[in-house]
Amino acid sequence: MHKFIQRFRQPKFPTDLPLCQLPSVLDVSMARRVLVFAPHPDDEVLGCGGTLALLPSDCQIRLVLVTDGSGGGDLPPEIGPRRRKEWAESLAHLGITDVTYLNAPDAAVAPEPIWLGLIAAEIKAFQPDWIFSPSMTDYHRDHMAIAQMVHSVCFEFACVKQLLMYEIWAPTWATHIVNITPVVTRKREALLLQKTSLEYGNYLQAIEGLNLYRGLYLGFPNASAEAFWIVSAARSSWRMVCHRFWLRWLNWVGI
Ligand SMILES: [Zn+2]
Repeated sequence: MHKFIQRFRQPKFPTDLPLCQLPSVLDVSMARRVLVFAPHPDDEVLGCGGTLALLPSDCQIRLVLVTDGSGGGDLPPEIGPRRRKEWAESLAHLGITDVTYLNAPDAAVAPEPIWLGLIAAEIKAFQPDWIFSPSMTDYHRDHMAIAQMVHSVCFEFACVKQLLMYEIWAPTWATHIVNITPVVTRKREALLLQKTSLEYGNYLQAIEGLNLYRGLYLGFPNASAEAFWIVSAARSSWRMVCHRFWLRWLNWVGI
């Protein structure tokens, strides 16, 4: 009995891991139809703007702006339309003109049937093979709610092969990275077009710092990368199971 208890007490550390278990480099040439959910104007360029710029020229890309970008009422009333205009200009710089707007209230998105239905309708209408969304471990309530809703419905559609969650307010659990070094300047130019966002935070230096940090995984000087937590349709990630428990715990303690 004593030996049995000791077996469970002993820490089990895998000894056959490589010295540094790095995220895999993602091949973006396989993407054919890409649907991107952006909670607010600028999230898409910050989180996956470089990757979008690297997608093949024959890849169809549609952007869905989920909220109205009004800042939740703390900002001037004209800020929503101004941000949406800058958002469309920024996307055009990345070669993307296919955009839709769900106009959910900024800073008040919750996993409710109305938004879940609209998200599912967007996926059904566009029939993507890849979907980008914010991460479920992001430190923003809108981002987490949208990520939860997208994940809960996306694999009901047979066309969807994988969900790629990008990082904004918190580094995500990176399973994959994309080398965006060749398009760093284009990403910067696209972000600079979202002038209103940049008035409220130094997002340019922040995201370039994050991309340089992720670029360390590539192993060459001055590399930049975007990191993603990818969930595939083929298998349910154990990380996702852990995350569901974590969310339930947050709800239970009332955070
Ligand atoms: Zn956001």
